[in-house]
Parts: sequence; structure tokens; C-alpha cells
Amino acid sequence: MSGSSKTVWPEAVNRSSYFDERKDDLVECIRQLVEIESPSDNKQAADRLGTFLAEKFEALGGKIRFHKSASFGDHLQVDFAGRRGGNPVLLLGHYDTVYPLGTLANMPCHVSDGRLWGPGVLDMKSGIALMLTAIEVLRASHGDLPHPITVLLVSDEEVGSDSSRHITENLAKQSAAVLVLEPSYGPRGAVKTARKGIGEYTIKVTGKAAHSGLDFEKGASAVVELAKQITKISQMVDLKRGLTLNVGLVQGGTRVNVIPAEATAVLDVRIAKMKDAAAIDRELRALKPFNRKCTLEINGGINRPPMERTAGVAALYEKASEIAKRLGWKLGEAAVGGGSDGNFTAGLGIPTLDGLGGVGEGAHATHESIVISELPRRAALLTGLIEKIWRASV
Ligand SMILES: [Zn+2]
Repeated sequence: MSGSSKTVWPEAVNRSSYFDERKDDLVECIRQLVEIESPSDNKQAADRLGTFLAEKFEALGGKIRFHKSASFGDHLQVDFAGRRGGNPVLLLGHYDTVYPLGTLANMPCHVSDGRLWGPGVLDMKSGIALMLTAIEVLRASHGDLPHPITVLLVSDEEVGSDSSRHITENLAKQSAAVLVLEPSYGPRGAVKTARKGIGEYTIKVTGKAAHSGLDFEKGASAVVELAKQITKISQMVDLKRGLTLNVGLVQGGTRVNVIPAEATAVLDVRIAKMKDAAAIDRELRALKPFNRKCTLEINGGINRPPMERTAGVAALYEKASEIAKRLGWKLGEAAVGGGSDGNFTAGLGIPTLDGLGGVGEGAHATHESIVISELPRRAALLTGLIEKIWRASV
């Protein structure tokens, strides 16, 4: 079929039995990735997995490019050319995990109860393995790929993606669509069509220290001031709008008999709509001290825009659910509070579908695991979706 002007588009449904037969290979591939530990904060360890992945993608005909990083693993970009050109489909993910080096000793990768267990197996090493298997099958079906695919695997997603964000955004801008292989949602493996945006703010109160017995009235308690501010901040929560503020950390005071001169709170802010970003930022920065002897210093901002369910996102979900239907299952969609790098690409207006990765539970926890029997249809879904996006773009 390659070389002819006509592209044959195999039916996704014909593929599920193929993927069924390859299930054990897929599990083995995921196990290999899990057993190369890749904490975000250990460049040397992360780079080992980056190099291993580069070899795997190169063996499939991809062109490797590492974006060097001084403190994190080098971010891995792989380009697969398409004989007819066009904008690539971007397969997006991360190869870092939240688990410190040595976690495998207490949390070994193993199969039991129909699941594969281990650190990072769900978030998101199974997602990377799905990318590999989808590209392998597309090459087997089409010969040379008809249209390009770009893979981007960053190594700092679990710590905020500061060093990789510009790479993700640059590649997204050139892409027809972005498919994010982060874990799916819930036991039925829903994809994610909306994610909240995330911000972090620090509020520092400076008051005046004094002896709590001798000079009580000369002091200005930063702790009392902060307590009032926290009450005010809690009132900004608007669940209907999907706007939440959580004061997650509080610190203040030096000794029990000293009126505290300093107190600090750190808060996590989540927004469902981009237009709420500026409003909540303004509101927080406009906080005024209740006690005029105290001063406030407010720092921070929204660092991940929300992924909103735009028409482009909805259209991708439609395509995915049609494929799932042909494979005999109903693919759900979910709006979640957590962010991913899909927030950046969706924030640019590029059609993005997230949560296409493994089905399981316990991300970032000791019971992190994936359901093995779900793997074949996830692979078939991803493969079919890439073809459907290609087909729509010709
Ligand atoms: Zn993740």
C-alpha cells in the first residue's frame, strides 16, 4: 500500500484482536519502563530512561532530538515523517515520576489480580508504551506513515513543567491535534475533556513583635492578621464556577510568649475558566490588612491555564467515542481538577484530548496499578484516533 497514491485506512475494529495477541509484549514493555526509575529530581536516573526510550522510538524509524536540560532529564522529541506531509499529530506525555530513586525495592513491579503494579505504571509509563505500540502498528499497516507524528516526552511534568513548557507549546502550535497519554479517569477509563487551571500564591504578613506579657498592646500579631485573611480567602471559593482556593500551608510565630511578627500562607488555586484567572489574581492582590500595623506581601500567579472543553476538544472526543463504539464500548469523558501539559496546548486553542493512557488507580500512591485487560482496546483506540485525525486533515 505504501507508494501508491491511495491510502488504505484499516478499521480500528480489525485491530483489537491483533492487540489482544500482543498484550503480553505490551505488558513486558511497560515493565521495562517501570523498572528504569525516573524521578523528576534525579537527572542522571531520568536520562537513563530518556536514552532507553530514544532507542525504542529510533528503532521504529523516528528521528530523535533531545532538548537539553541542566537540572532535569533531557526532554525527548521524536519526529516521524509522513510521505504526504501535513501537520503532525502530537503525542504528548512525560517520562518522569514522583517516586524517589529506590522506590522499586519496596514497590516492585509485578503482575497480580489482572493488574500490573509499580511506581509510575499508570502515570504514565503505560501511556508511553501505548505510543510505541500504536506507532509500530501504524507503520505495519501503512508502510511509510501517510502523515507525520511527533512524540514529546518531557521529564519535569510532575514538578510543574517550567523547563519544558516552551517546547510543548512550540510543538503544539505546529500540530493538527494533541493526544495526551496521561492516565484515563475512573474504573471505566474515561478520557479527559476538561482540566482545571492551577495557580499558587504566597501571602506573607509582617506584624510587630512584642513580649506577650509586658508589652502586649505594642505588638501587632501577624498570625491573627493571617487568620483573618484566610477567612476572607475561603469566601472567594465558588464551587459552581469551579473556582477553589485551598490554604494548604501555614507558618508563623517564633515562641509562645512572643507576639508573632511574621506569618505566611501558601494557597493552591484552581480555575475552570480562563476568564477567572485575571479576576482571582486581581482579587488576591487587592487584599488589604485588617490591622493597619501589619503589611501584606502577595506573590504568585496562575501557572497552568485551564483546559476548557472547546469545540476542537469536543470534536476530538467525538472521533474517539466513534472508534470506541466500533470496538464495542462506550467511552466516557470527564472534567477533572488536576492539570497536565495538555492544559498548555489546549490553552493555545489546539484541539487536545487527554487521558488516553492506561486504565487503573493509585497514581502517585503505593497501590498504583493498571488493568491489563484494558490495554488492547486503549492501543486500538489510540491507533484509530491518529488515523481519524489524519483522514480529517487530508
Ligand atoms: Zn502524569
